Amino acid sequence: MRCPFCHSDNDKVLDSRSAQAGYRVRRKRVCQECGRRFVTMEHIEALNVRVVKSDETREPFDREKIRRGIERACSKRSVPSEKIEATVQSIEAAIYSEFDFEIPAEKIGEVVLRFLATVDEVAYIRFASVYREFSDAKDFLRIISVLDKTREENKEPNVQTSSTRPPKFAKSSTENADGGESKSNQSYDKEKRSKLTKKSRAAGDRS
Ligand SMILES: [Zn+2]
Repeated sequence: MRCPFCHSDNDKVLDSRSAQAGYRVRRKRVCQECGRRFVTMEHIEALNVRVVKSDETREPFDREKIRRGIERACSKRSVPSEKIEATVQSIEAAIYSEFDFEIPAEKIGEVVLRFLATVDEVAYIRFASVYREFSDAKDFLRIISVLDKTREENKEPNVQTSSTRPPKFAKSSTENADGGESKSNQSYDKEKRSKLTKKSRAAGDRS
């Protein structure tokens, strides 16, 4: 590794330790020319997944973008940095296992939301509101019902859905209510529904 101070290419590793559950290796190095120390971090290079943007251009998958998005969503929330890093790792792993070469940019948002739902509710709503560009209050209610499910799965007792119906059916009731909407919204809603359905299938609560 070239020294960042004197730029000579002659260093010695002083210390090597794994970080972030073994996904990274941190090395302390000393430059043999100027004697100054620096640290390098080694991590697995993004595999060959490329992101297909809406204009059909491609760019390399960038985990740091995901991290920044999640950090923004978690700002002023009590989410520890380790939790954010672990979430980014899970998202990265899911993307690599579900997509071989390319992933449409909008799918990344879906994967992020799937994991963010288990991290922090406010962060989830913030991220979802940016990613899905909520068009009306109904979108918001839909998100809340997904969160309720997540909370239910995590066995937290204070589920706050409307008292007349069991939380388990909250989402399908919402879907039925949506069925009567204006035609212009239908395909949009259909797409969302399929997203939600996919999410609940992943969560294993729909039979
Ligand atoms: Zn040096």
